[in-house]
Amino acid sequence: MRYLFTCLLLLGLLPLSVQAQAIHTCGTTPWSEGFELQKDRLLHNLRQAASGTVVARNTTYVPVKFHVGARNDGSGRLSATRVLDQLCELNEDFASLDIQFFLADGSINFINNTTFYENHINTQNSVMTAQRDSRAMNVYIVESANTDNNGGGGITLAYYNIPRDWIVITKTYVRRNDATLSHEVGHFFSLLHTFNGWECESYNTQGVNAPVTSSCGQVPTERASGSNCATAGDFICDTPADYNNGIGWNGCNFTLNVLDPVGEQINPDERNYLSYFLDCPDEEYFFSDQQISAMQADYNSNRRNYLRLDPVPDYVEITGTSTNISPEQGTTTDAYNYVVFEWEAVAGATSYILEIDRISSFSLDPVRVIVSGTSAEIEDLQADRNYFWRVRPFNAHFACTTSSSITNFRTGEDVVSTSTPNYVESFTVAPNPVQSQSELQVFLNTEQAFTGQLDLLDINGRPTAIRQQQQFAVGQSQFTLNLSDLPNGIYLLRVQSADGVLTQKVILAR
Ligand SMILES: [Zn+2]
Repeated sequence: MRYLFTCLLLLGLLPLSVQAQAIHTCGTTPWSEGFELQKDRLLHNLRQAASGTVVARNTTYVPVKFHVGARNDGSGRLSATRVLDQLCELNEDFASLDIQFFLADGSINFINNTTFYENHINTQNSVMTAQRDSRAMNVYIVESANTDNNGGGGITLAYYNIPRDWIVITKTYVRRNDATLSHEVGHFFSLLHTFNGWECESYNTQGVNAPVTSSCGQVPTERASGSNCATAGDFICDTPADYNNGIGWNGCNFTLNVLDPVGEQINPDERNYLSYFLDCPDEEYFFSDQQISAMQADYNSNRRNYLRLDPVPDYVEITGTSTNISPEQGTTTDAYNYVVFEWEAVAGATSYILEIDRISSFSLDPVRVIVSGTSAEIEDLQADRNYFWRVRPFNAHFACTTSSSITNFRTGEDVVSTSTPNYVESFTVAPNPVQSQSELQVFLNTEQAFTGQLDLLDINGRPTAIRQQQQFAVGQSQFTLNLSDLPNGIYLLRVQSADGVLTQKVILAR
C-alpha cells in the first residue's frame, strides 16, 4: 500500500459536488510564486540533457538538511527515528537514478518555535531563512504544510517553494513507504507534475474531447499521441498525457475513457512519482528517463553549485545492530536523576539515537537524544519508575538501520546532587580513557579548602572499592587512584561535599 497523498482517501466520504472542487494536495502549482522560473529551469535542463552536455552517471551525493519543528516547549516534534526512516526511503527511491542523499554535517536540525511549527508561513523571513543551510537541500518538517495559497481550501501535504528553494512537508508524511517527499524532490530538481496545468481541476469526463487548454488556462493540453509533448503538459515526452486523472482515483489501473482534444483516449502513467495516483505498490513508482535526465541536468547546473561545496563523507553501509549493555535488563539504579546508558558500538555508525520511555512503544513521554559515542548520561528520568530503552545506529549516508532489542530497568529513589561547588575552579582526570596504565591521576583546583567524599561508581551508579575521604587544600591538588582491580567499562568519579558534587566520566579500556 502506497501512502502517497493519503488525505485523498478522505474524499471518498464527501459528496460528489464537494469532490468536484479542486483539492490540492501538493503545493507546487501554476499559481505558486516563481512558477515561471520553475518552468524555465525545466526547459533549460531538458535542452542541456538533449544536447548531451550532462554526462555524469556516477553516483551523485546530495546533502540534505532536515529541520524538525516543535513547539517552544519541544512538544509535537517528529521523532528522529522517523527522519532516519525518511532518509532511508529517499535513498531507496532514488537508488535507480544514481542519486543518494546524506545528512549535511551528519546532523538533524531541531527547531523549537511554536510559530514555525504551527504556522510556518509567518516565519519564512525569520526562522526559516535564518536556519536555512546554504550548502544543502533544505526540508522543513512542520505540523501542517498548509499555506494561504492552497487554492480553495484543500490540504497541502508538502510543497517546494520555488524562489526560496526549500521543501516544506507535513510531519505525518515523513515516514517509510511514503512517496510524498520523493515527489517534492522531483520538484526541487525542476520537474513539474505529469498533469501540469490541470492542478486547478482534473478532467475525468468520459467520451467528450478535452479542451485544448488545461484547466489552469496556461498550458496547452498534451495529446495522447505525444505530438505536442515538448510544448504541452509537463514538457516531457516520455510521460504520457495526464489530466490530473489520479486525484480521487482508487486502484493502480486507470480505466476511464478520457479523450484528448482530437478524440484519442489518453492513458496516464499511474506509477510516475509526479502523478497523483496513490494506490500503486510502493516499489513500482518511478521517474521516467527524461525526468531523470532533467533532474541530473539540474543538479549539474550553476544554480545547484551550492550542493557541491562540502566534501562528501565516506559512504559506509551499516549492517549490524547494537546491543544494550547498561542499565542491565531488570536492574534498579541507585539514583534516578543521573543514569548512565551504555551500548555496544556498531561498525560504520557515527551516531546513535537513544530512546527511553516508560512504555515499550516509546510514545508516552520519550526521552530521545542523538549521541556520537556509545554512552550517555541522562538526568531527566523520574524516580522509582520502570523504563524501556533502545538505540539505533546511523551515519550521514546510511539510515536504513534497526534499533537494538528493548531492555527495561527501574530507576531508584536516590538523588545525586548535580550542582558544582562554586569555589572549585577545575576538576580533571588523566589519562582518560585509561588504557595500558592502571593508575588514574586526579587534579582539582579550589579557591577554598574542603573535605569531600570521593567515590568511583560503576555504570549502574553502584560504589566500587575506591571510596575515600579526601582533603583538598587551597590551590592545585593532585593524587593517584589505582584501578588495577577493576574490570573495563565506564565509571563515574564523584566528589561529594557539603556544597555540591563534582563528577568525571572515566573509561577503563585496557
Ligand atoms: Zn507536486
